[in-house]
Amino acid sequence: MKRIQKITIILFSLSFVGFSQTSKIEKYINDNKDNELASFSKGSVSEGSLTNGKLFPFSGPNFHYFDTLSYINSRAYLNNKVKEAVLETYTDLKNEFPDRQFCIMECSNKHGGKIIPHRTHQNGLSIDFMVPLIKNQKPYYGLDTIARKHYFLEFNEKGQYSFDTSISIDFDLIAKHILLLNKQLNKQKLKISKVIFKIELKDKLYATPNGQLLKKSGIYFAQQLTPLINGLHDDHYHVDFEEMK
Ligand SMILES: [Zn+2]
Repeated sequence: MKRIQKITIILFSLSFVGFSQTSKIEKYINDNKDNELASFSKGSVSEGSLTNGKLFPFSGPNFHYFDTLSYINSRAYLNNKVKEAVLETYTDLKNEFPDRQFCIMECSNKHGGKIIPHRTHQNGLSIDFMVPLIKNQKPYYGLDTIARKHYFLEFNEKGQYSFDTSISIDFDLIAKHILLLNKQLNKQKLKISKVIFKIELKDKLYATPNGQLLKKSGIYFAQQLTPLINGLHDDHYHVDFEEMK
Protein backbone atom coordinates (compact mmCIF):
# COMPACT_ATOMS: atom_id res chain seq x y z
CA MET A 1 0.00 0.00 0.00
CA LYS A 2 1.26 3.42 -0.85
CA ARG A 3 2.43 5.42 2.14
CA ILE A 4 0.02 8.27 1.52
CA GLN A 5 -2.98 5.89 1.41
CA LYS A 6 -1.87 4.29 4.67
CA ILE A 7 -1.63 7.66 6.38
CA THR A 8 -5.07 8.67 5.09
CA ILE A 9 -6.60 5.45 6.47
CA ILE A 10 -4.88 5.87 9.85
CA LEU A 11 -6.01 9.49 10.13
CA PHE A 12 -9.53 8.52 9.11
CA SER A 13 -9.75 5.73 11.72
CA LEU A 14 -8.39 8.01 14.42
CA SER A 15 -10.92 10.70 13.67
CA PHE A 16 -13.68 8.08 13.56
CA VAL A 17 -12.81 6.73 17.04
CA GLY A 18 -12.61 10.31 18.34
CA PHE A 19 -15.90 11.24 16.74
CA SER A 20 -17.82 8.21 17.98
CA GLN A 21 -16.59 8.72 21.57
CA THR A 22 -17.37 12.43 21.49
CA SER A 23 -20.83 11.90 20.06
CA LYS A 24 -21.60 9.26 22.72
CA ILE A 25 -20.66 11.72 25.45
CA GLU A 26 -22.63 14.53 23.83
CA LYS A 27 -25.69 12.30 23.54
CA TYR A 28 -25.35 11.19 27.16
CA ILE A 29 -25.06 14.79 28.39
CA ASN A 30 -28.05 15.76 26.27
CA ASP A 31 -30.15 12.89 27.63
CA ASN A 32 -29.23 13.70 31.24
CA LYS A 33 -29.60 17.44 31.57
CA ASP A 34 -29.83 18.78 35.11
CA ASN A 35 -33.28 19.68 36.40
CA GLU A 36 -33.74 22.76 38.58
CA LEU A 37 -34.46 20.83 41.74
CA ALA A 38 -32.05 20.66 44.67
CA SER A 39 -30.34 17.32 45.24
CA PHE A 40 -31.13 15.18 48.24
CA SER A 41 -28.39 12.95 49.62
CA LYS A 42 -29.99 10.27 51.75
CA GLY A 43 -28.24 8.02 54.28
CA SER A 44 -24.47 7.81 54.37
CA VAL A 45 -21.68 7.58 51.79
CA SER A 46 -21.55 3.83 52.44
CA GLU A 47 -25.31 3.19 52.47
CA GLY A 48 -27.38 5.81 50.78
CA SER A 49 -29.08 7.19 47.71
CA LEU A 50 -29.20 10.36 45.65
CA THR A 51 -32.29 12.21 44.40
CA ASN A 52 -31.90 14.86 41.66
CA GLY A 53 -28.21 14.03 41.24
CA LYS A 54 -26.36 16.35 38.84
CA LEU A 55 -24.03 15.14 36.12
CA PHE A 56 -20.54 16.61 36.41
CA PRO A 57 -19.29 18.14 33.11
CA PHE A 58 -17.13 15.74 31.07
CA SER A 59 -14.58 18.50 30.67
CA GLY A 60 -13.97 22.18 31.34
CA PRO A 61 -11.21 24.74 30.74
CA ASN A 62 -8.74 23.05 33.12
CA PHE A 63 -10.23 19.64 33.95
CA HIS A 64 -11.63 16.48 32.46
CA TYR A 65 -13.39 13.34 33.58
CA PHE A 66 -11.03 10.38 33.33
CA ASP A 67 -13.05 7.66 31.57
CA THR A 68 -15.69 7.74 28.83
CA LEU A 69 -17.27 4.39 29.74
CA SER A 70 -17.49 5.30 33.41
CA TYR A 71 -19.14 8.57 32.39
CA ILE A 72 -21.80 7.12 30.10
CA ASN A 73 -22.43 4.32 32.61
CA SER A 74 -23.86 6.85 35.07
CA ARG A 75 -20.89 7.15 37.47
CA ALA A 76 -20.28 10.92 37.43
CA TYR A 77 -23.22 12.29 39.45
CA LEU A 78 -23.02 14.54 42.50
CA ASN A 79 -25.15 16.44 44.93
CA ASN A 80 -25.69 19.88 43.30
CA LYS A 81 -23.88 21.68 46.14
CA VAL A 82 -20.80 19.45 45.77
CA LYS A 83 -20.85 19.91 42.00
CA GLU A 84 -20.97 23.69 42.44
CA ALA A 85 -18.11 23.72 44.98
CA VAL A 86 -15.90 21.46 42.85
CA LEU A 87 -16.48 23.60 39.74
CA GLU A 88 -15.74 26.81 41.65
CA THR A 89 -12.56 25.19 42.94
CA TYR A 90 -11.45 24.43 39.37
CA THR A 91 -11.98 28.13 38.60
CA ASP A 92 -9.81 29.05 41.62
CA LEU A 93 -7.14 26.60 40.40
CA LYS A 94 -7.31 28.13 36.92
CA ASN A 95 -6.59 31.55 38.44
CA GLU A 96 -3.64 30.28 40.48
CA PHE A 97 -2.23 27.75 38.01
CA PRO A 98 -3.40 28.93 34.56
CA ASP A 99 -1.52 26.26 32.62
CA ARG A 100 -2.33 23.28 34.79
CA GLN A 101 -4.86 20.54 33.92
CA PHE A 102 -6.69 18.35 36.45
CA CYS A 103 -8.62 15.07 36.34
CA ILE A 104 -11.67 14.01 38.27
CA MET A 105 -12.47 10.32 38.66
CA GLU A 106 -15.55 8.41 39.84
CA CYS A 107 -18.39 10.09 41.73
CA SER A 108 -21.83 8.44 42.30
CA ASN A 109 -24.56 6.81 40.23
CA LYS A 110 -27.43 8.99 39.04
CA HIS A 111 -29.69 7.71 41.83
CA GLY A 112 -26.87 6.74 44.18
CA GLY A 113 -26.73 3.31 45.81
CA LYS A 114 -24.09 0.63 45.38
CA ILE A 115 -21.41 1.39 42.81
CA ILE A 116 -19.05 -1.55 42.50
CA PRO A 117 -16.16 -1.75 43.46
CA HIS A 118 -16.45 1.30 45.75
CA ARG A 119 -17.54 0.86 49.35
CA THR A 120 -18.75 4.44 49.51
CA HIS A 121 -19.74 6.88 46.70
CA GLN A 122 -23.41 6.06 47.42
CA ASN A 123 -25.14 9.41 47.91
CA GLY A 124 -23.43 12.03 45.73
CA LEU A 125 -21.06 13.08 48.52
CA SER A 126 -17.85 11.24 47.50
CA ILE A 127 -15.31 11.95 44.76
CA ASP A 128 -12.04 10.40 43.64
CA PHE A 129 -9.53 13.00 42.43
CA MET A 130 -6.58 11.93 40.28
CA VAL A 131 -3.17 12.84 41.72
CA PRO A 132 -1.43 15.58 39.68
CA LEU A 133 2.02 14.48 38.50
CA ILE A 134 5.36 16.08 37.73
CA LYS A 135 8.36 14.95 35.71
CA ASN A 136 11.56 17.03 35.60
CA GLN A 137 9.81 19.81 37.56
CA LYS A 138 7.13 20.10 34.88
CA PRO A 139 3.49 18.95 34.90
CA TYR A 140 3.17 15.46 33.45
CA TYR A 141 -0.06 14.18 31.87
CA GLY A 142 1.13 10.93 30.26
CA LEU A 143 -0.80 8.77 32.75
CA ASP A 144 -4.01 10.81 32.78
CA THR A 145 -5.49 9.27 29.66
CA ILE A 146 -5.48 5.55 30.49
CA ALA A 147 -9.07 5.65 31.80
CA ARG A 148 -10.06 3.08 34.45
CA LYS A 149 -6.61 1.45 34.37
CA HIS A 150 -5.47 4.52 36.28
CA TYR A 151 -6.92 3.01 39.47
CA PHE A 152 -4.30 0.23 39.25
CA LEU A 153 -1.20 2.43 38.93
CA GLU A 154 1.29 2.02 41.74
CA PHE A 155 3.42 4.65 43.43
CA ASN A 156 6.20 3.98 45.91
CA GLU A 157 6.51 5.50 49.40
CA LYS A 158 8.25 8.57 47.98
CA GLY A 159 5.30 9.14 45.67
CA GLN A 160 7.21 8.06 42.56
CA TYR A 161 5.53 6.01 39.82
CA SER A 162 6.77 2.42 40.20
CA PHE A 163 7.63 1.91 36.53
CA ASP A 164 9.33 5.28 36.04
CA THR A 165 10.60 6.97 39.20
CA SER A 166 11.23 10.23 37.32
CA ILE A 167 7.44 10.71 37.45
CA SER A 168 6.16 11.71 40.87
CA ILE A 169 3.11 13.00 42.71
CA ASP A 170 2.80 16.79 43.05
CA PHE A 171 2.00 16.74 46.77
CA ASP A 172 1.93 20.50 47.25
CA LEU A 173 -0.69 20.86 44.52
CA ILE A 174 -2.89 18.18 46.11
CA ALA A 175 -2.75 20.07 49.41
CA LYS A 176 -3.60 23.36 47.65
CA HIS A 177 -6.52 21.70 45.85
CA ILE A 178 -7.98 20.35 49.10
CA LEU A 179 -7.59 23.74 50.84
CA LEU A 180 -9.32 25.59 47.98
CA LEU A 181 -12.02 22.94 47.85
CA ASN A 182 -12.63 23.30 51.57
CA LYS A 183 -13.12 27.05 51.13
CA GLN A 184 -15.69 26.59 48.36
CA LEU A 185 -17.48 23.86 50.31
CA ASN A 186 -17.96 26.25 53.21
CA LYS A 187 -19.87 28.61 50.92
CA GLN A 188 -22.22 25.71 50.15
CA LYS A 189 -22.60 24.80 53.83
CA LEU A 190 -20.69 21.62 53.23
CA LYS A 191 -17.50 20.27 54.72
CA ILE A 192 -14.97 17.54 54.11
CA SER A 193 -15.71 14.66 56.45
CA LYS A 194 -12.80 12.47 55.37
CA VAL A 195 -9.92 12.23 52.91
CA ILE A 196 -8.52 8.80 52.08
CA PHE A 197 -4.94 8.82 50.83
CA LYS A 198 -2.27 6.13 51.20
CA ILE A 199 -1.00 6.35 54.80
CA GLU A 200 2.69 6.23 53.76
CA LEU A 201 2.21 9.26 51.49
CA LYS A 202 0.52 11.48 54.06
CA ASP A 203 3.83 12.65 55.60
CA LYS A 204 5.11 13.67 52.14
CA LEU A 205 1.90 15.63 51.65
CA TYR A 206 2.14 17.38 55.04
CA ALA A 207 5.82 18.20 54.45
CA THR A 208 5.05 20.61 51.57
CA PRO A 209 4.24 24.34 52.17
CA ASN A 210 0.53 23.90 51.42
CA GLY A 211 0.61 20.55 53.18
CA GLN A 212 1.57 22.31 56.41
CA LEU A 213 -1.46 24.59 56.03
CA LEU A 214 -3.55 21.51 55.29
CA LYS A 215 -2.33 19.84 58.46
CA LYS A 216 -3.17 22.96 60.49
CA SER A 217 -6.64 23.13 58.92
CA GLY A 218 -7.62 19.98 60.78
CA ILE A 219 -9.22 18.39 57.69
CA TYR A 220 -9.54 14.76 58.65
CA PHE A 221 -7.44 12.13 56.87
CA ALA A 222 -8.07 8.41 57.42
CA GLN A 223 -5.55 7.24 60.02
CA GLN A 224 -5.74 3.52 59.43
CA LEU A 225 -6.69 1.57 56.35
CA THR A 226 -6.79 -2.10 55.40
CA PRO A 227 -3.83 -3.04 53.13
CA LEU A 228 -6.19 -3.32 50.14
CA ILE A 229 -7.80 0.11 50.62
CA ASN A 230 -4.43 1.68 51.49
CA GLY A 231 -2.81 0.25 48.36
CA LEU A 232 -5.59 1.56 46.12
CA HIS A 233 -5.32 5.18 47.28
CA ASP A 234 -2.01 6.25 45.78
CA ASP A 235 -3.09 7.18 42.24
CA HIS A 236 -6.03 9.18 43.59
CA TYR A 237 -7.30 10.76 46.77
CA HIS A 238 -10.83 10.06 47.87
CA VAL A 239 -12.86 12.83 49.49
CA ASP A 240 -16.13 12.39 51.40
CA PHE A 241 -18.32 15.43 52.05
CA GLU A 242 -21.05 16.13 54.52
CA GLU A 243 -23.72 18.75 54.86
CA MET A 244 -23.31 21.08 57.82
CA LYS A 245 -26.10 20.82 60.34
ZN1 LIG B 1 -13.33 6.71 46.28
